[in-house]
Amino acid sequence: MEATLFEKIINREIPADILYEDELSIVIKDISPQAPTHLLIIPKKVIPKLSDATGEDQNILGHLMLVAGKIAEQLELDETFRLVVNNGAKAGQSVFHLHLHLLSGRSLNWPPG
Ligand code: 5GP
Repeated sequence: MEATLFEKIINREIPADILYEDELSIVIKDISPQAPTHLLIIPKKVIPKLSDATGEDQNILGHLMLVAGKIAEQLELDETFRLVVNNGAKAGQSVFHLHLHLLSGRSLNWPPG
């Protein structure tokens, strides 16, 4: 099976602005930012979408959330940010390798579009 776009970034086959990496995850800048800070928090394990995750992935999913908090603290985002997971094409997912969007640096409306 062909590697996902994010696997290629993890494997350094495609360049990206990498802000953080550990054994389970990587954090990159989104190539098309929708806010002054727009990061993608990506598990190294390929889980196509959140709804494909199983009990085995519990640790990874928790880890991604904790990484989000840690990065937000390091970047001094004033404890103000939004995490988004688009699950499925109709929800706006375009890359089928699970990722959290972290958005910050502007007012964020609710409900989202
Ligand atoms: P999704 O639409 O699947 O929720 O989010 C995918 C995100 O990946 C989009 O926000 C898009 O801008 C970002 N993206 C797509 N291609 C690339 C790329 O080559 N590099 C980076 N850094 N981000 C990308």
